[in-house]
Amino acid sequence: METQTWHNWAHCAGASPRRFATPKSVAEVSAEVARAASEGLHVKCIGAGHSFTSVAVTDGVMISLDNLRGITSAVPVSPSGALVTVLAGTRLYELNPALWDLGLAMVNLGDIDAQSIAGAISTGTHGTGARFGGLANQIRSLQLVLADGTVADCSAEENPELFHASRLGLGAVGIIVSLTLHCAPAYMLRAVEAPARLGETLANLDEHVGSVDHFEFYWFPHTDRILTKHNTRLPGDTPPDPVPALRAYIDDELLSNTVFEGVNRIATRFPAAIPQINKLTARVLGARTYTDRSYRVFASPRRVRFREMEYAVPAEALADTLREIDRWITDSDFTVAFPVEVRFAAADDIWLSTANGRETAYIAVHQYHRRDHREYFDAVETIARAVDGRPHWGKLHSRTAEDLRPTYRHFDEFRSARDKYDPGQVFDNDYLRRVLG
Ligand SMILES: Cc1cc2nc3c(=O)[nH]c(=O)nc-3n(C[C@H](O)[C@H](O)[C@H](O)COP(=O)(O)OP(=O)(O)OC[C@H]3O[C@@H](n4cnc5c(N)ncnc54)[C@H](O)[C@@H]3O)c2cc1C
Repeated sequence: METQTWHNWAHCAGASPRRFATPKSVAEVSAEVARAASEGLHVKCIGAGHSFTSVAVTDGVMISLDNLRGITSAVPVSPSGALVTVLAGTRLYELNPALWDLGLAMVNLGDIDAQSIAGAISTGTHGTGARFGGLANQIRSLQLVLADGTVADCSAEENPELFHASRLGLGAVGIIVSLTLHCAPAYMLRAVEAPARLGETLANLDEHVGSVDHFEFYWFPHTDRILTKHNTRLPGDTPPDPVPALRAYIDDELLSNTVFEGVNRIATRFPAAIPQINKLTARVLGARTYTDRSYRVFASPRRVRFREMEYAVPAEALADTLREIDRWITDSDFTVAFPVEVRFAAADDIWLSTANGRETAYIAVHQYHRRDHREYFDAVETIARAVDGRPHWGKLHSRTAEDLRPTYRHFDEFRSARDKYDPGQVFDNDYLRRVLG
């Protein structure tokens, strides 16, 4: 246990906690929480620090579950996969190959695999696919250390209030020490990536979204150009046909990271050149088709540092919202080199899920870390709010409890569960005070 400073991946949130703890067992987590509570210190658990918000920040005791990693059991539930119990600190980059070795896979994934499983589900991490929900939808039960240091199990049947609050709990309800996920049989993905036009794609959106399991696209602002990704699920024994190593290096490492970093440095010095740069970038990223293990297709490395905001809007409002954003960019002097990422998700019933109760489209805007993001994010936030958009809990936004409450029908239930299980607000921090009140 030692004192040290901490910052998140994007370097936009930091902390100097009183203590930094790395417990090696559930008993040690309990003891740490009980001790902090008795000293009147706040406690936050951190995962991989990949949230852009200060959701994980504390000046009290920061707990990392890096010593609580791995799969502890896998029980087949034929024919639909297995119930897999995972220690909460397990990183997705460890979990995915370990599941594959068991003939299993996560039902859906986001576009990186750096997160811890508990951190990912706690802010509502999601991927794309109109028939699929975010990662928290896979949770069947959880084990938590509560604010008084006691250990509690919960599921839809056992302690249902705790379950509904903590499967997407912003770290506000307790420390998840392990969780049981319903995993799918291992599947391959065939990815078809191709350039397209924004206008044409929005005009035929239902067709694109419905034609494959996982559809998403990247729109290059200041242009009508997009890069579409249509991913189709295939049986786990489908022979792989991955991107050749050299092409993968050029596309995923050189163009998406090394060259992209250089492009952003140039764009930072000469922002007026960005519209031309975006036109060029959109052309360079060409079509490709490949087939690989699902987790290898979903996730890719992200080495260019950026700030991000993501809004969940009702799926039917997507096209108009994007057109509004396009209009704002055209009318303003603002230039942005990062593509806008657009994804889709099914409605779910998780209390604080951004997809609760409605078919959802996600609009993610990014800005290079050396450039100011505020004017752009504020404008997009205003546009998304007009269609009852909900911000990703782990990405930048300026919303407060007062204006989030009307969009979440279970907001008050979440708060009363939090007050019941953490009456002294041991797990509180500034971010939670802002978004939960
Ligand atoms: C490059 C990049 C790409 C991303 N891509 C996506 C994407 O494709 N889709 C998407 O939806 N999001 C994405 N995100 C956001 C990211 O998935 C979330 O912010 C996620 O919460 C980060 O997980 P983490 O392990 O780093 O958690 P942290 O950021 O460390 O913590 C997040 C929250 O979880 C809590 N927490 C952590 N561990 C526990 C625990 N054991 N018990 C209780 N609470 C806990 C923390 O206290 C905090 O409140 C991306 C972020 C980055 C930086």
